[in-house]
Amino acid sequence: MIKLLKILVIMLFCVNAYALTFNDAEEVYKQLVIKNHVMPLPKLAYWPNDQVNAFCDSDAQTIVLTRGILKFVQNKDQLAMVIGHELGHCILHHPISTPRNEYIADRMGYWLSQAAGYNVCKGVEVLKNLNDPASATHPASINRYNVLKCK
Ligand SMILES: [Zn+2]
Repeated sequence: MIKLLKILVIMLFCVNAYALTFNDAEEVYKQLVIKNHVMPLPKLAYWPNDQVNAFCDSDAQTIVLTRGILKFVQNKDQLAMVIGHELGHCILHHPISTPRNEYIADRMGYWLSQAAGYNVCKGVEVLKNLNDPASATHPASINRYNVLKCK
């Protein structure tokens, strides 16, 4: 009996403890758009791809979340930051990704999340965990994290 219990406990720890689903994303998205009166509404779409990614498509009408990003975020606060960031790009019709647009979308994600009642101190941790180096379009995620982190 104890052996069985030990096996069960090990199995529980092996399951990704915080993998979120697209249903969770839809719930977070609804909170963000309702509490912030976002109009017109972009659609929320799921892309079964393991790349850790999310984006607002070029016509600013759809936010796409990959399976990878849903596995990567650790809680709904981080998910709210990710979706809020993409909502920011859609609302502002950012035609292209530039370091400046990324910082603006981060700030939008922060405000939208906060207004929707999410814990932004937990939410911004998603940028720290991303650990992406700087590129032509994106500043290093650690720099983005340092702008927003709770002191
Ligand atoms: Zn972005």
